[in-house]
Amino acid sequence: MLDQAERPVVALTLRYDRTDSFWFTLLHECAHVRLHYDRLKTDVAAFIDDIDINSDELHEREADDLARVSLIPDNILKDVTWSQYSTAADIYAVASRARVNVAVAAGRWQRDYRNYRKFSRLIERGNIREMLEV
Ligand SMILES: [Zn+2]
Repeated sequence: MLDQAERPVVALTLRYDRTDSFWFTLLHECAHVRLHYDRLKTDVAAFIDDIDINSDELHEREADDLARVSLIPDNILKDVTWSQYSTAADIYAVASRARVNVAVAAGRWQRDYRNYRKFSRLIERGNIREMLEV
């Protein structure tokens, strides 16, 4: 949303309090500011997102795509096995090359392959709230 001076305001819940969800959601909301600022000034009061719901709306897909490649550019995935057969070593390699927390790479893999069990031990939980001291 925008404040009265048309400055972007981003608010996040810590419902999941997971490293991967925090960074993806923050980048998704920043992507809305980057891509859809004009819509916020005109026809959309605010983007209210629920990451549990896959939206088919174009502006949501655009924000998801920009968030995804901002965290881990697709070219980084070319040098590893990025498939259902990925190993923990692949996840660590991607995280290192993208310079993101390993949880971000594991979360990306889980979303790409819709498998939320594999690599779940690599995803930190309960640390964002503590980091932000809220
Ligand atoms: Zn959104």
